[in-house]
Amino acid sequence: MPLVDLVAQNTETAADVRAAVDRVFETASYIGGSDVGAFEQEYAEATGARLCIGVGNGTDALELALRAAGVTAGGEVVLPVNTFIATAEAVSRIGAVPVFADVDEEHLLLDPDAVAAAVTSRTQAVVPVHLFGQVAPVGAIRAALGSSGIPIVEDGAQSQGAESEDGRAGGLGLVSSTSFYPGKNLGAAGDAGAVTTGDAEIARTVRLLASHGSETKYVHELIGFNSRMDSVQAAVLRVKLRHLADWNRRRRVAAARYAALLDDVDGVRLPQSMPGNLDVWHLYVVRVDERDRVMAQLNAAGIGASIHYPTPLHLTAAYGGHGLGAGSFPVAEAAAGRILSLPLYPHITADQQEFVAEELAEALRQS
Ligand SMILES: *Cc1c(COP(=O)(O)O)cnc(C)c1O
Repeated sequence: MPLVDLVAQNTETAADVRAAVDRVFETASYIGGSDVGAFEQEYAEATGARLCIGVGNGTDALELALRAAGVTAGGEVVLPVNTFIATAEAVSRIGAVPVFADVDEEHLLLDPDAVAAAVTSRTQAVVPVHLFGQVAPVGAIRAALGSSGIPIVEDGAQSQGAESEDGRAGGLGLVSSTSFYPGKNLGAAGDAGAVTTGDAEIARTVRLLASHGSETKYVHELIGFNSRMDSVQAAVLRVKLRHLADWNRRRRVAAARYAALLDDVDGVRLPQSMPGNLDVWHLYVVRVDERDRVMAQLNAAGIGASIHYPTPLHLTAAYGGHGLGAGSFPVAEAAAGRILSLPLYPHITADQQEFVAEELAEALRQS
């Protein structure tokens, strides 16, 4: 049993996806075809943000969103230390400095107090990451930033369809990025990403940056990139977007089933949604002692349990040079040694989940 079963998802959508892709090939509009604009409109509506720009992948989406929000070389960007490395890479590629902050113990989401402590006169943006399908506390982070005017740029790669008391993920910041990497809740058949915003000027800048600084062919207003969403990916995503709400609902059913199955198992801490959050369970992350042994036993039983993420960014080789050693971010560091992602996807069956729960309970009995 894999961590995520993309074949089951494909079986449900294959006929519609094939027809949609055939239509792209019939017109041969591989770049900038009508599916791209149509998907952008549909995804903007889904997030409640007014505007959407399809781009090449989620890392580019965040870089372009940060640049459009005014992040420049030498500036600082505050982000959680327990995210996928792409969040920090997007900052580094601008020549700006990622400033790591710790997370709250219960949800492992960016801690507003830690944000307040990390802000300096050089801070140009704060990036809450909607980790595991939750929504980070954007309202509390905005309150912590007070009247500083520092923009919030969401990293919504793991949260398509998630909602909180503050609103829908992807529509909470000045600008937001997301990824349609195949394993995300809304996944393409390859790499793709998007930027959403309600700000027309930001949207225009992102669109320019993503296509050689040019709106009109061969008129280049600024030095840009090539990071466009392919028509084929847009066609696939339009089909899958129609399934997203149902797939997210099925993820919630599966999460509730794990909670029931594991409720009286000793030694496992279950994930809790933040009050007011409509979680989309991109990942189901429990915490256990002796995690590496427990995971090895699950893997040996054919269960694709995994870790998101094993190393907080300040302890990776890539970002180790920033001078922050072990002990700098106690919450994220303690969690990194205990977190374990169990298989969860819309098509997981009750039998599969019962098997995971039994094997996990068995492994924990040996502690
Ligand atoms: C997947 C992911 C990204 C990067 O997306 P890509 O499309 O793979 O570039 C960025 N941030 C987070 C939190 C992610 O999970």
